[in-house]
Amino acid sequence: MAKILCVLYEDPADGYPTTYPRDDLPKIERYPDGQALPTPRAIDFQPGHLLGSVSGELGLRRFLEAAGHQFVVTADKDGLDSRFEHELVDADVVISQPFWPAYLTAERVAKAKNLKLAITAGIGSDHVDLQAAIERGITVAEVTYCNSISVSEHVVMMILSLVRNYLPSWEVVKAGGWDIADCASRSYDVEGMHVGTVAAGRIGSAVLRRLKPFDMHLHYTDRHRLPPEVEQELGLTFHESAAEMVPHCDVVTINAPLHPETENLFDDAMFARMKRGAYLVNTARGKVVNRDAVAAALKSGHLAGYAGDVWFPQPAPRDHPWRTMPHQGMTPHISGTSLSAQARYAAGTREILECFLEGRPIREEYLIVHGGHLAGAGAHSYSEGDATKGSEEAARFQVPNPLRA
Ligand code: NDP
Repeated sequence: MAKILCVLYEDPADGYPTTYPRDDLPKIERYPDGQALPTPRAIDFQPGHLLGSVSGELGLRRFLEAAGHQFVVTADKDGLDSRFEHELVDADVVISQPFWPAYLTAERVAKAKNLKLAITAGIGSDHVDLQAAIERGITVAEVTYCNSISVSEHVVMMILSLVRNYLPSWEVVKAGGWDIADCASRSYDVEGMHVGTVAAGRIGSAVLRRLKPFDMHLHYTDRHRLPPEVEQELGLTFHESAAEMVPHCDVVTINAPLHPETENLFDDAMFARMKRGAYLVNTARGKVVNRDAVAAALKSGHLAGYAGDVWFPQPAPRDHPWRTMPHQGMTPHISGTSLSAQARYAAGTREILECFLEGRPIREEYLIVHGGHLAGAGAHSYSEGDATKGSEEAARFQVPNPLRA
């Protein structure tokens, strides 16, 4: 029997919900490229309920315990005294989420003698030291496509809200004011602007498709070029690299995974290449952008705005400069964990578990590392190496949450 260790974010500050704003979720038949949605044999949860927090348990407990497996769920993930660190030593499977990542560093992999499978309940497995997983023969799998559209919607929201100066204008209303000129003096239309995505995979392409009706000029860079008919349909301009693309753009959005090629891609030199007054939206990973360089670019006025939902480490320290830098519209890491997305990643996690426990192959498109090398989606989109360095800071900087005081 297997031990499955699952790390999820905490329940809401006022307790696990008993009601929801809506009664159901729209029915999605397939992903936009035709890929099938998750296909577990069954689910034991109500789509639309909170599944990603500790009490939601991804809807897995009944299924796993009925089959005699041990299922441990915790939010306590950082530091040597954490429950995760203790339970890891004899776990066969670890499930973690990018929103509340249980960093699986080389040191932790070495401690986890039984570990065979690390599942990301979501997309983006950079919280796992992929090099260590390759060397140990651990399979790393994620629920490819489960929240790509969710994130693309968040990106469009953030681009519009930065360019149109939405959040500061909302603050004026909350403060009881009517200061039109204050709101309008940083507000523009996106129509006619040039927007570029770093990576045109599932999220990047969906962002481009959603921005086309706004009559923006669309640019992209990627390791593999899109088919000519897609470039023509969307009127895309391709650039060989991010460095070549950014000088042409009023808005840049980052949609590439974090791996050695993309870590610290947006540093002082990259910002210097961007137009004065450009906006940057990053929902990919915090480490793709240099923490201090973006704060400096906003302070100097070189960048007009920055938004995103990804930080490093997570949770972000209370004194993380992105919380207080000017002209930012950051959220905690939420874009891929809408209730809509949770239903898909919970079902996909169950599908992966069923395959593993029954000795069936995991879908190729879910694989990041398998059999001692990058595989499936990982072979296409990642490079070998480790992007977890510095993650131990998450333990030192646990955020005292004022809502839970
Ligand atoms: P995809 O695999 O569909 O797309 C990733 C794209 O990035 C691929 O087209 C890949 O290129 C490209 N890429 C990889 N390295 C580079 C590079 N060095 N330069 C340019 N392009 C590169 O994944 P998704 O679009 O679904 O997700 C992308 C990332 O977004 C995830 O890895 C994750 O980090 C993040 N994400 C964030 C979420 C959130 O909640 N904020 C939720 C979901 C994802 P190719 O394959 O052509 O080599």
